[in-house]
Amino acid sequence: MSVRTRFAPSPTGMLHIGGARTALFSYLFARRHGGKFLLRIEDTDRERSTPEAIRVILEGLAWLGLSWDEEPVYQSRRAARHLEIAERLLAEGKAYRCYCTKEELEAMREEQRRRGEKPRYNGRCRHREDHPEDRPFVIRFKAPLAGETVVNDLVLGRVSFANAELDDLILVRSDGTPTYNLAVVVDDHDMGITHVIRGADHLSNTPRQIQIYEALGWQVPAFAHIPLILGPDGAKMSKRHGATAITEYREQGYLPEAIVNFLARLGWSHGDQETFTMEELEQLFDLGSVGKANARFDPKKLDWLAGWHMRRADDARLAELVKPFLARIGVDEAALARGPELVALMPLLKERAKTLVELAELAKPFYRAPEDYDEKAVKKHLRGAAWELLARFVQEAEALKDWNAEALHALIRRICEEAGAGMGKLAQPIRILLTGRAVSPPIDATLALIGREESLRRLRAGMRRLQS
Ligand code: GLU
Repeated sequence: MSVRTRFAPSPTGMLHIGGARTALFSYLFARRHGGKFLLRIEDTDRERSTPEAIRVILEGLAWLGLSWDEEPVYQSRRAARHLEIAERLLAEGKAYRCYCTKEELEAMREEQRRRGEKPRYNGRCRHREDHPEDRPFVIRFKAPLAGETVVNDLVLGRVSFANAELDDLILVRSDGTPTYNLAVVVDDHDMGITHVIRGADHLSNTPRQIQIYEALGWQVPAFAHIPLILGPDGAKMSKRHGATAITEYREQGYLPEAIVNFLARLGWSHGDQETFTMEELEQLFDLGSVGKANARFDPKKLDWLAGWHMRRADDARLAELVKPFLARIGVDEAALARGPELVALMPLLKERAKTLVELAELAKPFYRAPEDYDEKAVKKHLRGAAWELLARFVQEAEALKDWNAEALHALIRRICEEAGAGMGKLAQPIRILLTGRAVSPPIDATLALIGREESLRRLRAGMRRLQS
């Protein structure tokens, strides 16, 4: 049997991190077993489903690298097939038309509540023989009345439901539209899905879906329900814990592989290994190592993973990815053309960045002189002897034979030694005047990459501005 999994989002909003993780687990499980990962857009809620939401979901999955096989299935286009199956169940006596009105159903529930029972449909139309032509009806499933329905969940283990607790659910509404539980079963069957991997919030639907499979004589797929994602405080993950939409992580400049690694570790583990590439995940992922307990969202871990993936990312790729983030902060193609090769900066900068936003901030000084200086850094480093050391540096650097990191390093060292000062006494002032800030890659490399003319211009301009 070859594995077929699917991700079945309802396109009524963004791609949430919980949804992305469900998609990732389905994807990885399929890849691990050499199977197929399919996509089904559950757009049956015509009012709330939008083309924009579909676009955002597809883009989010593609950004994460979760490539799907085969054309996505749009559930709304399959209504005729869902109804055909409902008709078949009717014809086989496994479903029935229910003519109960809203008022009758309300009275039924009222009566049950009064007797201290759980409100449910009591099967009143099950044996009804007449078919009043002019009255609206729903189609209900004739659920088994006794016994139990067992879900042998690949994550949660054996979960059993008493059939007496499950009433006759509606398959087709009075307006003729199929309901979620009918559509999901028919679609999963028709798509040949072997493993249904989804959030634990769907567990209560599963026994009902199993009953429908059984009534139809269809093979029941394996189920895996993945525990929820909680915030660091144990409450349901929400905006106040961190970004919840995948697009936000992209906007914040996270690399997709860092998000994939982070999502994989939300609920799944492999010994005590923390860092994973997609290739490793595709080889290692299994449902048996998904925890039963709810996962905790840990922003510190995300940042740590982000730094790890940044450091090992390919320089040429990073140089391309960072461009739009540079453009946002005023470094356009023209500015890039005037400065050093962006790719040459990457080995220096990626050590110090977690996101493309940070990478762009670090790259900016190589293309644009600082507009202002970090006040705290100025107060701390630009005073007393600093001005004298700077003046000597500018004077000697002008005449330096080779403008490269080694020669610049030697020069800074000599000036500091002669003045009996530590190298930081000169390196920090230079750094602030060149970049506006007290953190940058090593100062000799920074000077070398910015170039003699521009470095000296910035140093002179900064000295004039800050000394007056
Ligand atoms: N469309 C459902 C949702 O977005 C998923 C249904 C399923 O995975 O079975 O929650």
